[in-house]
Amino acid sequence: MSGSQIFIRSIGHSLEGLGIPAYANFDFAAAAPPENATLLIGGMHGNEPATVVLLESFFQSAAWAALDGCPVIVLPLANPDGGKRGTRYNARGVDLNRNCDCHWRAASEEPSGAAPWSEPESRALRDFILAWLPAKIVSLHWALAELDADGPQSTGLAEAMWAGLDEMARRPYRLRVSELGRGQRRLAQTYVACPGSFGQWCGYGLTYPDGTAPAMVTLELPHDPQAANRPDDLPDSHLDEIRALWQKDAAGYLRAVEPGVHAMLTAACRFPK
Ligand SMILES: [Zn+2]
Repeated sequence: MSGSQIFIRSIGHSLEGLGIPAYANFDFAAAAPPENATLLIGGMHGNEPATVVLLESFFQSAAWAALDGCPVIVLPLANPDGGKRGTRYNARGVDLNRNCDCHWRAASEEPSGAAPWSEPESRALRDFILAWLPAKIVSLHWALAELDADGPQSTGLAEAMWAGLDEMARRPYRLRVSELGRGQRRLAQTYVACPGSFGQWCGYGLTYPDGTAPAMVTLELPHDPQAANRPDDLPDSHLDEIRALWQKDAAGYLRAVEPGVHAMLTAACRFPK
């Protein structure tokens, strides 16, 4: 494995025929999936451009080049049609983060598709995960300003990412780990299910052939990178606010959040699950 070398392939295609690119620091032609691989995902919602840019800058960074021995795959744009349009949904208006087979519901606050895995983008992601069996999955979103671990097997990964931040860098975030005890993977009735969500499918719904489950952390980027503390409740308008901030000064937002995000991603990639 060569640290700075990047191997590229497409994991499938969008409804409108765009490739869904994957970048890795190991050769996809490998005979078997590497042990303890980390999968980093951005752009599942096409109107969250910071998630795409921060992953693209990660695999061009010095931190990436120093990840020798830690197999990593980056999918910066899981929803290329949505990215092209600047919309949350795919080309037929489905939220890919509600289309997975874990507590899927037809009646959902966001359009969840005709059935679980009805969308080519979500099927491509599912099939890629089942083929490459990443031990750790980190999915980036805008902008609930937190690290959210799904499933008790994910607590250690979330804590390692949190430990990768110094006190200053933690300020705009909070850490949320599973509300269930260790060993209790089943989604409890009392736990607030997010129907069809990718994170809950990985964290609670998915078991690999060897009986293990991936550690799954959703990295919600800061709502306000300059915040002295992450408030308990974000304003209802937090997404409008983040888009206004991005319009005004995308470079400033990236400058403020990139060091912390890259530190957390590095910690995730190095974490020995
Ligand atoms: Zn999102």
